[in-house]
Amino acid sequence: MSIAADHATRTHDVAELQAKARDHLWMHFTRQSTLERDGVPIIVRGEGHHIWDADGKRYFDGLAGLFVVNAGHGRRRLAEAAARQAEQLAFFPLWSYAHPSAIELADRLAARAPGELNRVFFTTGGGEAVETAFKLAKHYWKLRGKPAKHKVISRSVAYHGTPQGALAITGIPSMKAMFEPITPGGFRVPNTNFYRAAEMSAPGDDLEAFGRWAADRIEEMIEFEGPDTVAAVFLEPVQNSGGCFPPPPGYFQRVREICDRHDVLLVSDEVICAFGRIGPTFACEAYGYEPDMITFAKGVTSGYSPLGGTVVSERVYEPFSKGDTTFYHGYTFGGHPVSTAVALANLDIFEEEGLNDRVRENSPLFRAALEKLRDLPIVGDVRGDGYFFGIELVKDKTTRETFNEDESERLLRGFLSKALFEAGLYCRADDRGDPVIQLAPPLTIGPAEFDEIEQILRGVLTEAWTRL
Ligand code: PLP
Repeated sequence: MSIAADHATRTHDVAELQAKARDHLWMHFTRQSTLERDGVPIIVRGEGHHIWDADGKRYFDGLAGLFVVNAGHGRRRLAEAAARQAEQLAFFPLWSYAHPSAIELADRLAARAPGELNRVFFTTGGGEAVETAFKLAKHYWKLRGKPAKHKVISRSVAYHGTPQGALAITGIPSMKAMFEPITPGGFRVPNTNFYRAAEMSAPGDDLEAFGRWAADRIEEMIEFEGPDTVAAVFLEPVQNSGGCFPPPPGYFQRVREICDRHDVLLVSDEVICAFGRIGPTFACEAYGYEPDMITFAKGVTSGYSPLGGTVVSERVYEPFSKGDTTFYHGYTFGGHPVSTAVALANLDIFEEEGLNDRVRENSPLFRAALEKLRDLPIVGDVRGDGYFFGIELVKDKTTRETFNEDESERLLRGFLSKALFEAGLYCRADDRGDPVIQLAPPLTIGPAEFDEIEQILRGVLTEAWTRL
């Protein structure tokens, strides 16, 4: 077939796919009217840190799919691990029976998790992992003779998933209003957005003082609601939504003390931050704290098969280990044999290629490349850690004035997302908090690729400013 004929065939396929998508596919978190009007980018292939659309155009995957493909695309070894497992035992549940890959993976994750966190409850994704931790916390306190402890505290603008329990923990009102009343018991405290400290009347010139202030808001909420009613605090090591808020030094140590003082469980939601995104396998290690539970998903398989889970401390597990106590909770596909087999092979790749060390070593270079963008009038802040950065866009750098709703709509939805994609960079322009561009590329990239990202961003952000 000639190149022209090949192209014609592809175009025909694409048109047909677009028509089918328009008629039948309900997208996630997407305006269906946009799909129906403009169609949708259709991604057909991935290799390393690149993806290709159905027209054959190549893009830099600056978001690892959705904070997922940490080991990069196109790993035959992971596909083969999946095929081998499917051939041998395609499916068996973890309901009263077990299978080797789930057992091996639980053992390996327990070895990687800090201190006492030794018990692994598998799910199929992150929202279910958060839901599991929420239910576990409530059940745990009932078993401990404190049945009123059921409330959960999390931070404003934080995203913790969409099941109705997880949604009660998610701190983004605009994503919840249409589903009210959702599970009761969710309470919000300020996040660690140091750039916006002044707006929260928090210390804005001393990061550690700001961290103490932010941690103390958690204690204030526990005391206000009554320690006897609070079950757990859910925090991401680096909060994604709002644009990558790292914890100030000492923040998590203080939160740990507060939780211990009031008998409240600390859950580290590492659905994004685990598996090298920040550096270590579990990000709590990077910031020196030991939670009571860790929720994980995404990077555990680098996305080659769906999997999530909750790692639980011996202390929380202990009352469940006795007599006829059963945790009445589970998912048919939780800890699926194919997914757990893929996760084991994925962890092998991480070890053999030293991906976690690579992130630790390269992170300052990635930051430095992005910091260059600070010379642009539209770039207010660059923040993050590991291979996980957010760039906050502002209307006025001096006053830190942000965009109004209309400008944000025109800038993010109307221009930036599309322009970045057209310029060959798939990443995320997000306005769940103030407008930010988020980057979380595969962990395989290095300095040359950091520069490439910076150059694409520079071009598009410069144009965005002229359009404003
Ligand atoms: N928790 C955090 C911190 C997340 O970032 C996400 C998803 O991005 C979730 C939970 C929900 O995970 P999932 O989409 O796999 O249900």
